[in-house]
Amino acid sequence: MLPGMPVCDCGAPAGPLGVCADYYNAVLAEEQLDPEMYRWHAIVVCVYLLQHPSRGHEKYLDGQFRYLQFYVDKGLDALQRLRNHQVARNNHRSRAGYDLTPLAAYEPLPPAAPAGPFRAAFAGLPHENDSFVFDGHEAYGQRMHTLAEATLESWKPGGPGTPNRG
Ligand SMILES: [Zn+2]
Repeated sequence: MLPGMPVCDCGAPAGPLGVCADYYNAVLAEEQLDPEMYRWHAIVVCVYLLQHPSRGHEKYLDGQFRYLQFYVDKGLDALQRLRNHQVARNNHRSRAGYDLTPLAAYEPLPPAAPAGPFRAAFAGLPHENDSFVFDGHEAYGQRMHTLAEATLESWKPGGPGTPNRG
């Protein structure tokens, strides 16, 4: 990397659009206009906040960490069903809150945030013709899956992003 080249606080080198926040905002803007792309919205938010935990709320990061594990384990359709179930339950008994039982089986957020760069970062997402879905939604979904896996890998104790490695 050249000296003076901008680096995101997650350790990722900036891409043509800037650091991860620039990519994140561009993704959020594009998915607003594309319902199919919006299906990955929750993954986008969870990955971004877990890769930049200082921008998230400690209170929610644990749930976001479990959410990503559920997604990598069960897939997007199962995640959508979980969300529908939560919304229905929340409407039905407004004081009951969200049913987080399906997430309880997953690992809690480790106490130490990863120190190193993630294997895949927002700033590394390909962006062509002013779009993140230039090569189709399936390919975009694959990249979201890779981002989710890279995030979980680095957060796990002893993962590639933890201090004192190599
Ligand atoms: Zn970043």
